[in-house]
Amino acid sequence: MCIFCKIIAGEIPSNKVLENEEFLAFNDINPIAPVHILVIPKKHIKSLNEVDGQTMAKITEFIKEVAKKAGIFESGYRVITNIGENGGQEVSHLHFHILGGTKLAWPKLG
Ligand code: AMP
Repeated sequence: MCIFCKIIAGEIPSNKVLENEEFLAFNDINPIAPVHILVIPKKHIKSLNEVDGQTMAKITEFIKEVAKKAGIFESGYRVITNIGENGGQEVSHLHFHILGGTKLAWPKLG
């Protein structure tokens, strides 16, 4: 079982922000912004490459709810998903980083 599946199963503790039947939002253990929340599907999906459009539509609405709950919906935020090795994906369970709470830099990458 992957680390995020263990979080969903309650085998590893997490700091939950929001949850529904299909998705879970919890604080990143190693935040890189004042607000750094991870949004994951409860069903194991490896990455954006494997997700279907219907799930993406629902997760988009969930992300907006999370941003509202975190108080960053109006001030602005960034949504990132890393895909595969070159994308820097360390956990092979689809997740969206929700970053906010400050004016985020837009770095030159690579
Ligand atoms: P990525 O590099 O896009 O795969 O991001 C994985 C993220 O998961 C990193 O930002 C980690 O800090 C975060 N992470 C790993 N383990 C945990 C955990 N047990 N609880 C919360 N966040 C975690």
